[in-house]
Amino acid sequence: MKHNSNFWETKSLNEMSDDEWESLCDGCARCCLVKLADEDSNKIYLTNVACKLLDLETCRCSDYAHRLKAVPMCMNLKTDLSEMLDYLPESCAYRLLHEGKSLESWHPLVSTNPDSVHEAGISAGEFAVSEQAIHPEQLEQHIIGSLSDDN
Ligand code: SF4
Ligand code: SF4
Repeated sequence: MKHNSNFWETKSLNEMSDDEWESLCDGCARCCLVKLADEDSNKIYLTNVACKLLDLETCRCSDYAHRLKAVPMCMNLKTDLSEMLDYLPESCAYRLLHEGKSLESWHPLVSTNPDSVHEAGISAGEFAVSEQAIHPEQLEQHIIGSLSDDN
């Protein structure tokens, strides 16, 4: 008989406590990569440039409490998840659960290993450069795909 006590398998996103909700974030920071909009084609391009507030060492926001005021592109997934789904990687835990899918085996809640997201090569810290080190005119040179691609 399967013993099922994992909150992410038994609760909907709306039913989760704040702590449970926050623990769903695997810390990949892929949602913190700068996007560029092409007004002619309406395409959104993804770069390998991380938001200026992302600490690339820890892959965490350096000012999480004030992030929404400090960075216009920052997303509040708790209130706006359904509108933001297309801006999230397919591997994002919030997107997976919203779509009725299971968390990946490397998700820290599943693996019980906080480093598994890095070991699986999912973390943006593996390939991103900081916005602070890039001139805005160089952003186009850092495009790594469009958001309609498998990101
Ligand atoms: S993409 Fe999803 S899982 Fe990854 S850091 Fe952003 S919110 Fe967390
Ligand atoms: S403000 Fe923080 S959470 Fe928001 S995109 Fe930048 S690094 Fe990520």
